[in-house]
Amino acid sequence: MRDALVGLYKSLAARDMLIGSSGNVSARSATGMLITPTGCNADTLSAAQIVEMALDGAWHGPIKPSSEWELHAAIYRDAPTAQVIVHTHSDHATALACLNRPLPAFHYNVAEFGGEDVRIAPYATFGTPELAARAAEAIKGRSACLLANHGMIVHGSSIEAALSNAIRLEALCKQYLLVLAAGSARLLTQAEVTAAIARYSTYGQQPE
Ligand SMILES: [Zn+2]
Repeated sequence: MRDALVGLYKSLAARDMLIGSSGNVSARSATGMLITPTGCNADTLSAAQIVEMALDGAWHGPIKPSSEWELHAAIYRDAPTAQVIVHTHSDHATALACLNRPLPAFHYNVAEFGGEDVRIAPYATFGTPELAARAAEAIKGRSACLLANHGMIVHGSSIEAALSNAIRLEALCKQYLLVLAAGSARLLTQAEVTAAIARYSTYGQQPE
């Protein structure tokens, strides 16, 4: 899993979704979680630098975990389906988050995150329990949320699912910003969103 997290971090960096050392990734473990270190660098990150820590913040060893560890821990506590978490300051998700707007159902793909929108957590100082609590609330029942004036966070059932969610959320935020620049979107109705969510419950599954 340590190697898989390094691979996930490098995949995000290769897609220009990690600016500087912003952004961090984690995976649930038997005793808590594995998470990227503070001041993470995609060029030099190795499996040995991944920090194993408890969800209450206890950690051992010479390498300090990401300053946003509490954001990850709060979501693992609240969301049993979360196995892998990605947090980024990727350009388009961050731009929308700085408008302090949720991502509405302007496209049916938004329903893939579990609801009629991708909610936005109100602003709180980075690395604080307040931000962690607000993010856990905004992502409840969903697999993604935006963080006001900060960025985005997604979770998935696997490395691949979390990476895919991060890439898709960033693309949808880009598309929505294009829509906002061109005019105003017709949002899907509640019935249309409900139908899309129902469709997603069997989408992509092969017959047994
Ligand atoms: Zn951040």
